[in-house]
Amino acid sequence: MEEARQHSALEELRAGNARFLASEPDLPEAHRPQVAVLTCADARLDPYRIFDAKPGQLFIVRNAGNIADELAMASLRFARSLGVEEVVVLGHSDCGAVQAALNGVDGFDPITTPIQTHLSGTSQDLTEAAAAHAQATAGRLRERLGVPVQAAFYRVEEGSVQWLD
Ligand SMILES: [Zn+2]
Repeated sequence: MEEARQHSALEELRAGNARFLASEPDLPEAHRPQVAVLTCADARLDPYRIFDAKPGQLFIVRNAGNIADELAMASLRFARSLGVEEVVVLGHSDCGAVQAALNGVDGFDPITTPIQTHLSGTSQDLTEAAAAHAQATAGRLRERLGVPVQAAFYRVEEGSVQWLD
């Protein structure tokens, strides 16, 4: 049953790529993104859609909980080497990673530990905690990357982005 479900999900992707090719898409040849976005892997959050961005405009680094770990940092430094001079840390409402950190869920330490570090002394409210985590992450990146880093917060239930700070 599960195999059949996965099979049909992949079939949807195959059909989707066929539709994409048929649409004669705009495929940028050069890799010159303008902005780097560190955001959560949450499937409801698609930076290209929510910012109505053009193909090739965004260099996106994603993981559950928008964690600025060693790999994410290296990817953002790579974006800098491509000429990116603006970074956005985009947290979001109803974030499962922040919820896991608040609940002390076991088994996801590389995700929950850095979030918990950012939440000491803040509210247990999920929305406030996710926003505080995005702001703390942006502050840390600002110091380490030496470029402007803007924190932002996406409301999955509305589609709106709030710019923090
Ligand atoms: Zn999330």
